Amino acid sequence: MKVLEPENVRPYCQNQSFLFPPNLRDMIVDDDLCIVVDDVVNSLDLSCIYKKVSSEGNLPYHPKMMLKVLFYAYASGIFSSRKIAKAVRENVTFIYLAAWQQPNFRTINNFRKNNLKELGDLFVQIVHICQKLKMIKLGHISIDSSRFQANAADRRTYDRKRIDREMKRLLDQAEKEDQEEDALFGSDKTGDELPKEIRKRKHRIEKLKKIRKQLDEEGKEKLNSTDPDAVFMKTTAGIKTAYNAQTAVDENAQVIVATEVTNKSYDVDDLLPIVDQTEENTDSRINILSTDSGYSSADNLEKLESREIDAYIPDDQYQSKTRRKKVPPFNKDNFIYDESRDVFICPEGQQLKFVCPQRRNHKDTYLIYQCSECIECQYFGQCTSSKKGRTIHRRALDEKIKQMRLKLDSESGKAIYAKRKVIIEPVFGQIKAAMGFTGFMLRGLKKVNSEFKLVAIAHNLRKISKYVYKESIDLSLKIAEG
Ligand code: SF4
Repeated sequence: MKVLEPENVRPYCQNQSFLFPPNLRDMIVDDDLCIVVDDVVNSLDLSCIYKKVSSEGNLPYHPKMMLKVLFYAYASGIFSSRKIAKAVRENVTFIYLAAWQQPNFRTINNFRKNNLKELGDLFVQIVHICQKLKMIKLGHISIDSSRFQANAADRRTYDRKRIDREMKRLLDQAEKEDQEEDALFGSDKTGDELPKEIRKRKHRIEKLKKIRKQLDEEGKEKLNSTDPDAVFMKTTAGIKTAYNAQTAVDENAQVIVATEVTNKSYDVDDLLPIVDQTEENTDSRINILSTDSGYSSADNLEKLESREIDAYIPDDQYQSKTRRKKVPPFNKDNFIYDESRDVFICPEGQQLKFVCPQRRNHKDTYLIYQCSECIECQYFGQCTSSKKGRTIHRRALDEKIKQMRLKLDSESGKAIYAKRKVIIEPVFGQIKAAMGFTGFMLRGLKKVNSEFKLVAIAHNLRKISKYVYKESIDLSLKIAEG
C-alpha cells in the first residue's frame, strides 16, 4: 500500500548533491573547543616534531593535524587510539581538524608514542600562551597530587610470598602429574606425550624467577609484571596499581603550570622539584604557595623561606582533634624542653634523655627522648604503660612548625589557606570527572609522565576555551600580538 507523503514539510533528500560543497567550518559553532585547539596548535613552534619527519618512504600525516586531533581527543575525554580513529571518521569537529584525512588507530598510537618527549616542550609553550592571555598571575600557586591507575592489572603484582606460593603450587602440580604419568605409562616414559602443559609450566616458573630476581635487584617489596614502574597506592577506588601525579595550579584561571608523575606514594620529596618546574615553565617567581600537610617537612619550610616564597603548609598534626582540645595532663605540651641540657622535664620533674634519631614517613627526622624513672612513678599507667618508660619525639626543626602554625592561625593565613581547596582540588575533579581521565593508556614511568603532560595540555586548552569565551577575546589575534 502506497503511503502518501505529507506536503507541508521541508524537502528531505539525503543524496542531494551540492552546487558548491559545504564548508565544514560553517557547521561548527564559534565557541567550540576545537576552534581553540586549532588556533593554539597553529601558533605553536613545532620544529621539535618537524625535524623528526623522515624525507623517505610514504608521506606521513602532517604533525600539526595529528596534534590537533590528539589534543582535542584528550580534551573531549577520548583517550584510546581506536576511539580517536573512529571519531576522526564520524565526528564533524574531528573531521574538521583532520581536514577529511583519516589516520588509523595504529598511526595515531604511534604518533603519540613517538612524540612523548616533545609533549613536555609543547606543554610549556601552552603555559606561555596562557601567560600571554593573562590567565596566569603566579599570585597564589597551589600544589597537590592525585593518583591515577596504571595500565596494569592488580593481580599481576607480586611480592616474594606470592612468588614462593605460586612456585610451590606449580612444582607440586608437576610432581603429582609425574606420579600419575609413571603409574599410567611406566617410569621409563620420556614425558613427550604432554610437552605443551609442561612447557607452559616451565615458562611460568621461569617468569616467576625473573620477577623475584628483579625484586631483589631493585630492592622492592612488590612488583607488577605488566608495568614494573607502577606501585600499589591508596586511591579513591581502594588500593590500586597506580602512579602519583604532582600538579601545580595557578589561582587566577586554574591553569596547570607544572606537572610531574612519580611512582612514590608520598609527596614530601616532590615539593621543591615541582616549585622549580613552575618557576622555570613560567620564567617567574612564585609569590604565595599552599599545599596540604603531605608536603610538610622542616627542610621544605626552610628552603621555601630561603627562596622568599610565602608558604602555607600545615604539619600533619595541625588539624588533629587533640590540638584543638584542652591539653591533657600528660600531653607532650606539658613536658618542658631544656635546651642547655638537651632533655625534657616531665610534670613529675624527671628527665627524659635523648636516645636516638628516627626518620618517619619519609619526612623529618625525629629525635627520641626517654625517661628511665617511670616504673616507680605514681602516674605509671596514666602517663605511660611502657616498661621502657615514657618517650617524647622532637622534630629537628620544631620551631619552623610552630611559626607555620601561628601563620596559619592568623586571620590572613586562614583566608589564604582556605583558597587552596578551591584552586587545586577542582582541577583533579575536572580531569577525572569532566574529561574522564582516571588511568593511563601507556606503561612505564617516563611514558606516563609524558601522557600526563598531554592530559595537562588538554585541561589547559579547556581553560583557554572557557576564558576567551568569557572575556570575548579573539584568540588568534591575541596570540599573534608580540
Ligand atoms: S610516668 Fe615517667 S614521664 Fe610520666 S610523669 Fe611519671 S616519671 Fe614523668
